[in-house]
Amino acid sequence: EIDLPEDHPRYASLLTRHRIEAGVEKGITSKQGLIAQGRGEAFDYLLGEQTIPSADAAERAAAAQLLLADHPVLSVNGNVAALVAPEIVALAAAVDADIEVNLFNRTEKRMEAIAAHLREHGADEVKGLTADGRIPNLSHERAKVDADGIGAADVVVVPLEDGDRAEALADLGKTEIVIDLNPLSRSAQTAAIPIVDNIIRAVPNMTAHAEELHGSESETLHTIVDQFVGSDALAAAEEAIRTGAQ
Ligand code: ATP
Ligand code: MG
Repeated sequence: EIDLPEDHPRYASLLTRHRIEAGVEKGITSKQGLIAQGRGEAFDYLLGEQTIPSADAAERAAAAQLLLADHPVLSVNGNVAALVAPEIVALAAAVDADIEVNLFNRTEKRMEAIAAHLREHGADEVKGLTADGRIPNLSHERAKVDADGIGAADVVVVPLEDGDRAEALADLGKTEIVIDLNPLSRSAQTAAIPIVDNIIRAVPNMTAHAEELHGSESETLHTIVDQFVGSDALAAAEEAIRTGAQ
C-alpha cells in the first residue's frame, strides 16, 4: 500500500484514511464517502479505537445469526469495498453468504468498479448488477436490488447504510445486521443486531466468531442470538462514548 510508520500511535487510522483516499482515486468510493469516513472516525476516537465488549457480543450474535440464515447477503458500498474487500470475501466464505453491491448514489460505472475490485480480492460471484428487484417505499435508484440477492435474503449485513434504506429493508421483514460507529444513527437503531464498531475490526471479528461457532448445534446458535439485546448494546456504546466506561 503506502509507506506509513507502523509505530505511529494512529497507524490504523492513517491506514484507513489512505484506503478511502485510494478508493476515491480508483473510482470505487464517492466523495460523499470521505465525509462518512470522517464522521465514523470521530465516533471511533471516542470509543478508544477498540472493539468494546458489547460490540464483540454483537459480532458474535451476528455470526450466529448468519450461520442460522437460509440466504444471508452481505451488502457492499464504496467505503466497505475500499476498507475491507478481502475481509468481506472471507466472511462470505465463512457463513456461506452472497455479496451484493448496493450504492446510495448508484452509477453503473461505480457498481462495475466495485464488483471488479471484489473479484480482484477473491469474490467469485458479485450480485447487484442485475437490479431486477425493488425495495418498496424508496425512490427508484435507491430501491434497486437483485431479486435473487438482497431481494430473496432472510438475513442482510448492511454496513454504513443510510437510515432510510435500513428502515425499508427491516420493513420487508429481513433480519438486519448493521455495522455503524454511531449508536444514535437511525440505521443502528433499526437493526436487529447493531454493531457499533469500526468495520475494519468488526468484519474480521465476525469471521473469527463464525469459524469458532461453525458446526455448533442450531440450538446453541439460537441461544446466542436470543441472549443478545440490541437496545442494550446501543446503550452500552453510547455510555462508552459519553463516559469512557465499558
Ligand atoms: P443518520 O443515520 O444519522 O441519518 P447518515 O447515515 O445519513 O446519518 P452518513 O454520514 O451518511 O450519515 O453515514 C455514515 C455512517 O457510517 C455514520 O454513522 C458513521 O459513523 C458510519 N461509519 C463511517 N465509517 C465507518 C467505519 N469505518 N466503520 C463503521 N461505521 C462507519
Ligand atoms: Mg446512518
